[in-house]
Amino acid sequence: MNTLTLHLSHLDHNYTYLRSKILPKTQLVGVVKAAAYGSSSIAIAKRLVKLGVSYLAVAYVEEGEQLRNEGIKIPIMVFYPQINNLESLLTSCLEPCLYSQALMENFKSILLKKKIKQYPIHIKYNTGLNRLGFSPDQCDWVIEQIKNNCFKVESIYSHLAASEAKRPSSLCERQIELFKALKTKHEKLSDQPPKFHLLNSSGVFNYPEYQFDMVRCGIALHGFANHPHWEAELKPLGVLQSTISQIHQVKKGGFIGYDHGWKAPNDTKIATLPIGHADGIGRHYGHHKGSVLIHGKQAPIVGNVCMDLLMVDVTTVDCKEGETVEFFGHTKKASAFAQDGNSISYELLSSLGPRIKRVFKD
Ligand SMILES: *Cc1c(COP(=O)(O)O)cnc(C)c1O
Repeated sequence: MNTLTLHLSHLDHNYTYLRSKILPKTQLVGVVKAAAYGSSSIAIAKRLVKLGVSYLAVAYVEEGEQLRNEGIKIPIMVFYPQINNLESLLTSCLEPCLYSQALMENFKSILLKKKIKQYPIHIKYNTGLNRLGFSPDQCDWVIEQIKNNCFKVESIYSHLAASEAKRPSSLCERQIELFKALKTKHEKLSDQPPKFHLLNSSGVFNYPEYQFDMVRCGIALHGFANHPHWEAELKPLGVLQSTISQIHQVKKGGFIGYDHGWKAPNDTKIATLPIGHADGIGRHYGHHKGSVLIHGKQAPIVGNVCMDLLMVDVTTVDCKEGETVEFFGHTKKASAFAQDGNSISYELLSSLGPRIKRVFKD
């Protein structure tokens, strides 16, 4: 029915390419949050471990627990731990990224209570994205806290708001300057300086001179990088395909789909596909915004996308029920499909639902 075929050899290619963009001493963190961008966190994490990543990163504790349950042993950082699940984070030997006073104080009191020493943590600063992170003004407070030997600071990082923006970007440069100042301050006060990192995938392409000690790559491992020129060097991992459930002949003036979403201007042939907004092909792809490929020909999505199904206009396409339809992968990139629906590769990939079967190819 619906399959997302994942070409693992393309992951190898993308990893090797990213490694070639950074120095041998720079560590690569494989970001596998959100089911590894909608693919399969276990399969991707296992492959990344084999390829030699130093670290994996997830957004939430539960995602890290899942990796531990599948036998992943390497360090895992949790970008966005919540106060209420710090205990489970400890149980699974996950490393928290501490981003606020409340989070740090809570974690510290748990470590002290359990008499745990030198637990690996990461510190996140907000240098301009204004999402999560200690403010640079809190640096002195952070420095005081990390003197406690319950903590072992593995790394200190920040996140750029627009690492893909065309250079020069004054906002990006401001973030970099702030981060460099924080780095200097921390290094001065520590005999064992931690690692520093700032770049995500597009950062590796746009600001390689600020790779510091580590980079955190997610989307580029899947073949995308927010810029066609950079993406040309990468190989998309996933191919999303569906099959035609039924074909209808609709007379001129007939309506297709919920709310009479589309009125056929001529006699029209409609193919119905067993995939809908519950699977991640959202309503924003309806009304001729998105299209699929059948025998190499474009067939636009007509009317409203339903929860489990959608309809495409195949009037000019020679096709039959049961035949394969491609959303993205071989011919059209997922980033291009996403753009048709005013979306981005990140959203499209990470929204692909559990009803889509993941198939692995080398
Ligand atoms: C998701 C995430 C990344 C990875 O970003 P990509 O653009 O997918 O490479 C890096 N750092 C943080 C903090 C993230 O949340």
